[in-house]
Amino acid sequence: MLVTGKKTNQGASSEVVRDINRRLVLHLIRKRYPISRADLARVSGLQRSTISLIVEQLIAERWVLEGPTGRLPRGRRPTFLRLDDERVIIGVDVRPIHTTVALADANGRFLSQEIMNTPRDPKAAIGALIQSIQRMVIASNGKTIEGVGISLPGRFDHTQDRLVFAPNLDWPDLDIRNPIVKATGLEVELENAANACVLAAVWFDPSPGVRNLVVVTVSEGIGTGLLANGQLVRGLNGMAGEFGHVPLDPHGPLCSCGSRGCWEVFASNRAALRYYAAAGGSAGNMGFIDLLNRADLGDEHAAESLKTMAQYLGQGMRMIVAGLAPERIMMIGDLTRSWHRFGPVIEAEVHAQALPGGKPPAVIPVHEDGMARLRGTVALILQKHFGIGVEVAG
Ligand SMILES: [Zn+2]
Repeated sequence: MLVTGKKTNQGASSEVVRDINRRLVLHLIRKRYPISRADLARVSGLQRSTISLIVEQLIAERWVLEGPTGRLPRGRRPTFLRLDDERVIIGVDVRPIHTTVALADANGRFLSQEIMNTPRDPKAAIGALIQSIQRMVIASNGKTIEGVGISLPGRFDHTQDRLVFAPNLDWPDLDIRNPIVKATGLEVELENAANACVLAAVWFDPSPGVRNLVVVTVSEGIGTGLLANGQLVRGLNGMAGEFGHVPLDPHGPLCSCGSRGCWEVFASNRAALRYYAAAGGSAGNMGFIDLLNRADLGDEHAAESLKTMAQYLGQGMRMIVAGLAPERIMMIGDLTRSWHRFGPVIEAEVHAQALPGGKPPAVIPVHEDGMARLRGTVALILQKHFGIGVEVAG
């Protein structure tokens, strides 16, 4: 928890140290509010004078508010600090079928949201998004809108400002950001969905921070978000993390990326439905949740299809474990509802990967409410001001 010179590189400028300390103070206020300056000093290990300076700055910038006044023994009356909930963020989660637009405060609490069908045509989709964002601006009732964070089921190239790879969305290489900036006048940040989930975990997960983390999102496809040495890994053109499109079998079924036998062709929700149909179960229009339910009702074909999917998930994860040695792999998707089916199979595969000297990661299902990506979009805007915050999680 304590941020000392040891954690920053030799020769790091005092500005860097100040930024780290600011982040630490902000995180503590966010996680432990209401909290007094004295408690901030005690918990952070920073000097009282340093805390006072940072707090005054955060108050001047309207990130933090004072009040109410507490009451302690011996007549001391500390002033408690909390985040200013007049600062709000608009989060957008674009998925192949539905898009959610929400208004959140800096604590990641959602104040209002709307869900719409995602138009097939990207221009129509951008138009619909702009209208929805404008409705959220009205719903914010005069609060300060810090920016718009957008999660996309594809890779976003931050240097070119373009969505460059979104096979499950079937949109072409496209500029989404500038039309929205132009129409709304707001700051707009975009990020891949799995990366957004990494940010959500780093910012809003109550457990202590990890510096090597992989998030695997399993839905129509498979996405991975990578945190290595405390940094989000984006790679050239933002294309890092496409483990879902590493072929396990070059003669396998055709993938949406144009290649054959990719990991996601064998281990996504779609794959399980395909196994079920091939086994004689009537897949038809049924969805993945229906498949989970059928397995729970005793349908053996359904259970077997899920087991096959789980085995492939575990096999693909062996690449990740061998290549990145994460401390933790977080699983996001409807499969977490049936973790008793998936967990043991995946863990057996991952443990089979353990190399001499290696330690298998904890594989953790995130039983989330479908809001991880949206929380990630909030973090995406917050980290513009406070960095990724890994050093200070806890
Ligand atoms: Zn592929």
